[in-house]
Parts: sequence; C-alpha cells; structure tokens
Amino acid sequence: MKINENYRNLKESYLFSTISRKVSEYQKEHPDAKLIRLGIGDVTIPLCGAAVEAMKAACDEMGRKDSFHGYGPEQGYDFLRESVQGYYRQKGVSLGLDEIFISDGAKSDLGNILDLFGADNRVLIPDPVYPVYVDTNIMAGREIIYLDANMENGFLPLPDPGVPADIIYLCSPNNPTGAVYNREQLRAWVDYATAQNAVILFDAAYEAFISDPSLPESIMEIEGADRCAIEFCSFSKTAGFTGTRCGYTIVPKNLVFDGMKLNSMWLRRQTTKFNGVPYIVQRGAAAVFTPEGLKQCKEAVDYYRENARIMCEAFQEVGIEYIGGKNSPYVWIRCPNGMGSWEYFDYLLHELNVVGTPGEGFGKNGEGYLRLTAFGDRDNTIEAMNRIRNSMKK
Ligand code: PLP
Repeated sequence: MKINENYRNLKESYLFSTISRKVSEYQKEHPDAKLIRLGIGDVTIPLCGAAVEAMKAACDEMGRKDSFHGYGPEQGYDFLRESVQGYYRQKGVSLGLDEIFISDGAKSDLGNILDLFGADNRVLIPDPVYPVYVDTNIMAGREIIYLDANMENGFLPLPDPGVPADIIYLCSPNNPTGAVYNREQLRAWVDYATAQNAVILFDAAYEAFISDPSLPESIMEIEGADRCAIEFCSFSKTAGFTGTRCGYTIVPKNLVFDGMKLNSMWLRRQTTKFNGVPYIVQRGAAAVFTPEGLKQCKEAVDYYRENARIMCEAFQEVGIEYIGGKNSPYVWIRCPNGMGSWEYFDYLLHELNVVGTPGEGFGKNGEGYLRLTAFGDRDNTIEAMNRIRNSMKK
C-alpha cells in the first residue's frame, strides 16, 4: 500500500492551536483577566426561530410512519432547491433546479469539487486566503500559483493575462480581509477565465453581509459566469448553521470543458459519494428563505454588521489602517507601529486582553496584519475598541 505522498507537503496548521495555547497559558497566569475574543470566525447568535420551528416540525414528521423520510435525493430536496432558486431570482439570476446542489456546508464542497479536475491543472489562489483552498490542492498534488493581495490593490487582486491558470479561487466578501469585489472587477475575472478556458471557484459564503446594492452578491450576476464559474454558498454565517451544517453549490449546465458537462460530472460524483443532507436540516434551511426567516436572519446579520461598524469607527479614530468591515463580518487591520502579526497578537492579548487572529496564518501577505471578527457580543466589541482606543492614545 502506498500512501498519498502529497500529504507530506502539507504545512502543519499551527494557527488556531497556537492561539488557543497562548490564550489558555495567559488565562492560567491571569485568572481574573476579562478576555474578549474577537478572533473566532464562528457565529454567536443562535438559530433563528423560523428554522428552529421548521426543524421541530420535521422531527415530528420523522417520528410518524406516514411522514417518515429515509434516503433523500443526494442533490437535495426540491423544496429547498426551489427556495434557493427563488433567492437567486431576487438577485436577477435565473437558475435551473438541476443547477442547485444542496451540501452539508461550503467547506466540504470546496474540497470535493476537486474530484472533477485533473491533477496537472495550474491553480491560482490569492494570498492571504481561507486555508482550505490551498490545503485541498496540496493534498491532490496540484501546482499552486499565488496571487498577491495587499494594501496597494485593496486586497482585491485582478488577473494578469500573462499568468496562465486553469482553476481560479475567488472569495468575496473575503475571509480573512473583508474585501469585496465590485462588478467591473468580477467582470475582469470572468473575461480572464473565459480567455484561459479556466474555471472560477467562487466562494460566496459571506454574501449576506453585502449591504451596498452596487456590489455583486453572486458571480452569476456577471454575464458569462455561467460558462466559467461554480459558486459555493452556505447557511453557516447567513443563518447561524455552523453547527447545523447546510450549504449549496451552483454548477451551471453551460459549464462544458473537453466535451464534458461539469454539472453532469458533479451529479455523478455526488450520487456516488454523498447521501444528502438530513431532511430535518433541509427543512430548517428552507425556513431561512421564508419572509419570517429572512427577516430574522437579517436581524442577526445586522447585529454583526453594527459590531463591524463600531470596530471600523474606532480604527478610523485612532489612525489604524484597515479594510473590510463594511460588507463583511471581518475587519483586517494593519498592525500599528510596524509590528508583526504575532507581535501585535501578543500585545493585544497581554496588554489589552483582546484576542485577534494573526494575519500571517492566512498566507505570507498576511504578515503585519491582524483579523478581527464582528461575530462577538456587542458590549464586548465596544469594550475591546475602547481598550484599543485608550492604548493608542497613550
Ligand atoms: N468559505 C469561507 C471563506 C469560510 O470562511 C468558511 C468558514 O469559515 C467556509 C467557506 C465554510 O463554510 P461552511 O460552514 O458552510 O462549511
């Protein structure tokens, strides 16, 4: 038996384990310290009432012979796919039901989609980035070309026609930087991918945080994207499903490469390797798209958005350079006084008892930056910003 040698090339992921070790050591030495955690990317507001009620009713159905559900369709129940279809219709995007695949979250599908592509494709990945894109391609032994995202390009790198690529990752609103591509920028990517005969893997996990109506919430809003892009989305941040697990992937039928339809390949892949998302969870997810569910989820997103606004206001006031925070739950700050990512992390932890995430953990271009999230509690967010304000004034 030979192992997959590519696993030897994976870098050990020290980021979150190092953060939690540093935090618990500090907490042990300072048991009275009131730590404020703005590092986590997980939500804190519970599921909305509409989803909870729908899942309770679905539980009852499952306990009765006449309404019990066994194996469901691997690509998701029609009732949920119709809801997703309606959600996209509101964005002006028309999707066929068979272009929508229900998943157990965006992370799984972002990894699984690679089953469709050959090993010798060149993969273009912006740096800094959500680490899943990098690691899943290293596992498959693919060559990765990194694209520099930095303050000069607003952490929104554009394609370089001189750099060829076959698979392109875009994440907008971005994790970790909070930057969001506008329509013209996405158009440039669609044009580039079309010219390269490449596929764009578009991660829209944070689309619900976009409040500026001029910004695209889906790459499918760009003409021609249905011939070059797959979109991944999730109920995790939109509706607090991080622990409930549900998402959806849009694979347009117009995606044809080497005479093969990616949509048919993905259906074949899913029906072979996946047995669907639980009925109960899909009922909860469908409730998110009801008028009541949408209203409740918007309230939660608005709460996080206000946290982000409070953070941006504080950074503006004290002259810390930042991006994100406007159409995103992430605020990406340049560490003050030329400090490195870990240096500023340690300063915030030890001196201000605030926990962030060092930008360096998301790629080399993250060095010198720190990610803070708006998923915390309001009072804690205000308190953390006051501590940063006071320290900067000193
Ligand atoms: N994509 C991005 C950019 C993320 O930041 C995350 C989670 O943090 C995911 C995908 C994973 O989403 P899910 O919970 O649906 O697997």
